[in-house]
Amino acid sequence: TERNREGYAPLYNPFEQFFSRYVYRRVRHCFNLPVTSTPAAELSLKERATDDYNWTFRFTGKENRCINLGSYNYLGFAEPEGECADAAEAASRKYGLALASSRAELGTCEVHRELEETTASFLGVESAIVFGMGFATNSMGVPGLIAEGSLVLSDENNHASLILGLRLARATVRVFRHNDVAHLEKLARHAIAEGKWKRIIIVVEGVYSMEGSIVPLQAMVALKKRYGLYLYLDEAHSVGALGPRGRGVTDYARVDPKDVDILMGTFTKSFGAAGGYIAGTKQLINSVKARGHGHSYAHSMSPPVAAQVLTAMRAIASPKGAARVARLRENTHYFRERLRKLGVITYGHEDSPVVPMLVYTFSKMAATVERLQSRRVATVGVGFPATPLNKARIRFCLSAAHTREQLDECLEAIEAVVDELGLRYSRR
Ligand code: PMP
Repeated sequence: TERNREGYAPLYNPFEQFFSRYVYRRVRHCFNLPVTSTPAAELSLKERATDDYNWTFRFTGKENRCINLGSYNYLGFAEPEGECADAAEAASRKYGLALASSRAELGTCEVHRELEETTASFLGVESAIVFGMGFATNSMGVPGLIAEGSLVLSDENNHASLILGLRLARATVRVFRHNDVAHLEKLARHAIAEGKWKRIIIVVEGVYSMEGSIVPLQAMVALKKRYGLYLYLDEAHSVGALGPRGRGVTDYARVDPKDVDILMGTFTKSFGAAGGYIAGTKQLINSVKARGHGHSYAHSMSPPVAAQVLTAMRAIASPKGAARVARLRENTHYFRERLRKLGVITYGHEDSPVVPMLVYTFSKMAATVERLQSRRVATVGVGFPATPLNKARIRFCLSAAHTREQLDECLEAIEAVVDELGLRYSRR
């Protein structure tokens, strides 16, 4: 049953629990259904779209302004002003918005090369390649890297872009329980005993955006070394946001990045931009270029986007950027601690800036999002198939750009809604 440090959730039914998890694991990896969002979340997005834009939606007295507690702007680089925005503007004047060509044709310019070199050295590996879209980095990159005849051991919570890539790769996929290294080892041993797989590849994420959990990377790396497996790590939510130097989950877990065979990440979260990367050895990147569709058949990354990412990445490597990473961690700890005191059930690791709060049912999810919005806090509700059937939740995302006052305002609103809807599932 769900427990937090102080108590327990009364919503426990072993049959429902088993059925929900089973359906979740099988159905998601078989059909890759789209994620459900609440009607209230859609409404709030429409309303927000009419507002003049400022990421944190600071209070200005305007009717429809909210504090944004639901976007992945972990380090605050998505703000429309500052050095990143200036670099993007300068690049758009120099190169335009598009090069009207794929990377393999005439779509490569100086800023792409610089970004790829910087990404490789930022991550501590030999080489990197960037793409215009994070989702497509997985969905087009995976089929280029994982051939038919390979076996993939995939975490049950892997993102839809990975699942789509695996389906396109026509690899055989076996799903292991979330972050469960013992289950993974059992599947790996069984697969090795079968003796028919060209390669066995573990596919995991750094931080899971629906659970707020962090991959046990040291254990995964030890396991892959012990059995001669390969490791594909999606760092969409961890690069920039985790680790003392913001280099992601390898930095956080003190794992040599070279021990991860394929490092993947996106620029849509901590870098406040668009696109993604694959990084590793030169040989790996050459094969992505040769066999992945993204290099030859898709338009290259927009130069202003590349300039924004490059500036953000350099900033993270500077003392000022390190202060942002530290601020994100402080905000995360503060917010999680206050929620814990409130007596609600949250998931995830205490260092994860994604903080899911369990509300269990769809109706409570919709009501919570709506009521928080009426108190000027914008959040996202998520349910099946992004989560098990009976585990709907509100997903809060912290940012280094949130001030303490903003977080206090959000927490006040959350407390009021928690009381109204009876969301305190544990004893105080
Ligand atoms: N991988 C993971 C783990 C994600 O969470 C996401 C999207 N949130 C993506 C890939 C796709 O990235 P993007 O949104 O940058 O297209």
